[in-house]
Amino acid sequence: MATKFQCELSWSASRAKEFDRCKREYWYNRYASWGWWTEKPRGKKYEYMIHKNLTGLAAFTGTCMHDAIEHWFQLKAEGTVMSGKELYEDAVERFRDGWRVSSDGWQAQPNKMVHLYDHHYEIPISKDRAEKMRELLERSAHYFCEHDDLIPVRAATPESWLSVESMDTYQYIGTKVYAVPDFAYSDGDKVHVWDWKTGTPRQEDHFQLRTYALYACEKWSVDPEDIILHASYLAKGETTLISSSIEELSQTQDVMSSGIREMMDVHYDPDVDDLMMENWPPNGDEQACHWCNFRGVCEKGKE
Ligand code: SF4
Repeated sequence: MATKFQCELSWSASRAKEFDRCKREYWYNRYASWGWWTEKPRGKKYEYMIHKNLTGLAAFTGTCMHDAIEHWFQLKAEGTVMSGKELYEDAVERFRDGWRVSSDGWQAQPNKMVHLYDHHYEIPISKDRAEKMRELLERSAHYFCEHDDLIPVRAATPESWLSVESMDTYQYIGTKVYAVPDFAYSDGDKVHVWDWKTGTPRQEDHFQLRTYALYACEKWSVDPEDIILHASYLAKGETTLISSSIEELSQTQDVMSSGIREMMDVHYDPDVDDLMMENWPPNGDEQACHWCNFRGVCEKGKE
């Protein structure tokens, strides 16, 4: 018998951030478009799905770099090493392809294809802004391929790799938790977890990396003291070691637990349960609303 596809509660560091930032945004992302594929004729759910899939220019540029690095690893596993120039060109090609699709073509598969926030809301992208993205890719590729900080990553042999950009989940207090460490490898008893960042360093990165440490403990049965977390700010050209003591991981679990419980309190199954809109107030601040994917459909975003 086929398993029923259900809208289940799941947690990730980015979902938690969204939940804290604005309940209505979280609702749009997690519930509002649920079942759009069965909606006939297409209506609100389809429209919400289109908004859910929008991506900002900087985030898209970061994705291009991540995808190009994943390709770097694929080639390395096959015995070929890309140079910094080749990695940059690979990322630029992905950027150009995505831009083309976002300008014209995303409608073919709006839940999968690149659709830039700026194109959707008809915000002109200046040459200066586009050039900044190009420079970001160039600096990131150069740092990844040439800098001494990344020698351990480049030198790690494919036999030692534990994970390369693979999305995985584990159960925590009965909830599916998503973890996508960009790169993890073992070195003796130690497990090194790397995360590529194309933005600027933020305190919340520490929390995110520690959730990956919890994943590493669960997935590879490694002791917390044997996990080494690296936040690698590619465009900035620096890598930071993030501590992951037992106390810090325990605090991380506490924050996760209380966040998951808050989400559980309002979670519902859109196929079965009544929608209680009062659980999802539009409480984004002005800045959040300005950059929110849903500003075109949300009453507050339209103000
Ligand atoms: S536009 Fe503002 S209030 Fe509406 S969902 Fe987005 S962040 Fe929340």
